Amino acid sequence: MLHAIADGVERRSEELALVETMDNGALLRSHRRGVMPRVAHNFRFFADRLLHLEHEEFLTRGHTNHVTWDPAGPCVLITPWNAPLMLATWKVAPALAAGNTVVLKPAEWSPLTASLLADIAAEAGLPPGVLNVVQGYGSEIGGTLTGHPDVRRVSFTGSVPTARRIAASAAANLTPLSLELGGKSPLLVFADADPDLAVDLAVEQYDNAGQVCLAATRILVERSAAPEFTRRLAGRIARLRQGDPREDATDIGPTIHPRQLERVDGFVRRALASGARAVAGGHRVGERYYAPTLLTGVEQDSEIVQEEVFGPVLTLQSFDSEDEAVRLANDTRFGLAATVATGDRARAARVTERLVAGTVWVNCFFVRDLRAPFGGSRHSGVGREGGTWSFDFYCDLKNTVTAPGGWSDHG
Ligand code: NAD
Repeated sequence: MLHAIADGVERRSEELALVETMDNGALLRSHRRGVMPRVAHNFRFFADRLLHLEHEEFLTRGHTNHVTWDPAGPCVLITPWNAPLMLATWKVAPALAAGNTVVLKPAEWSPLTASLLADIAAEAGLPPGVLNVVQGYGSEIGGTLTGHPDVRRVSFTGSVPTARRIAASAAANLTPLSLELGGKSPLLVFADADPDLAVDLAVEQYDNAGQVCLAATRILVERSAAPEFTRRLAGRIARLRQGDPREDATDIGPTIHPRQLERVDGFVRRALASGARAVAGGHRVGERYYAPTLLTGVEQDSEIVQEEVFGPVLTLQSFDSEDEAVRLANDTRFGLAATVATGDRARAARVTERLVAGTVWVNCFFVRDLRAPFGGSRHSGVGREGGTWSFDFYCDLKNTVTAPGGWSDHG
């Protein structure tokens, strides 16, 4: 059934890609080439992964222990707007594979592909009531879903303030939660890094107009390399093409909603007012766009360094030593991801060991494998999903211990 859903996603991937772009403004070419194939893969991966779960057996003084992964029951899945179908299926696929029923509530700013997914699942033959898509404002209907006594799991991807409300609501029934939240991830650039690679990694952080939870929005550069790095990065930013996300040539699309644009602009205005300098951008472009922005002269304890902006805004700070780099990198309340650019293997090992983050990339960014655990430390999340970790969450593990012999059938 899950493979049939994947087939349906593949058959309708052009439509899904276009609808997603019209809904949330992310680049059509990314949806076509990267996102929709991964949406289909999410179903195939978890369908196949299920077959590899160990139904372990071992003996205790002749008694058989038989471990099974039982369905947990109805799961409520609540998702954000920045990568709607990708993030929804990342939960829906393992929840269904584990044998559960699902209530999916997509974000109100990007509801459309979730409803198309429900159509695809119905076409694939999924029985009515197994995958339910409920549309609505989280503030109005969220509590009904997350506080319901029949709900056995709540998996949420979104912001920290909403996570707090959901956790409080789920507490009434002690419903287990998986929380994938925001980030303020660092990109550490050491002087021994390949300079082209370091700039490429920084420019990548403007993807989806910076509306990416994993984005490394805090660039930390070794002081000796900072002037040259900053000059080259500013040059690359100036060449980014901002415009219609349906055009193949576009690098940066709009922010999703005028309210988001307003929010992003507010962060930048306050940063500039408190002494930051815009090396690039620092302003809106028309009604829908925010110029890719690079801010220097920012203090570690300032709002712009500590809070998630969720827009095309990067800060740049310098460090003098490995110790200082690690200290700055770890000095926010988040711990979602970190990226390290260095040409020194021993340094990479030392630094990655000390970073607090659910995912660390070394000389690369956004390489994701469904077999790996995914999630955040500190305020970036609770729990891990991906691979077998998804089944740990969406299943009730049961151990059945059976005494030897004594059967009436003598079998
Ligand atoms: P949000 O928290 O405002 O909303 C997310 C979802 O929660 C939406 O579907 C919304 O309707 C729902 N919601 C709102 N109030 C609710 C309530 N009281 N009860 C239940 N549900 C409620 O987040 P957003 O603005 O849609 O998304 C952006 C945030 O998501 C950013 O912080 C970003 O970092 C985070 N995010 C995290 C990951 C990750 O994997 N860690 C991935 C993408 C986005």
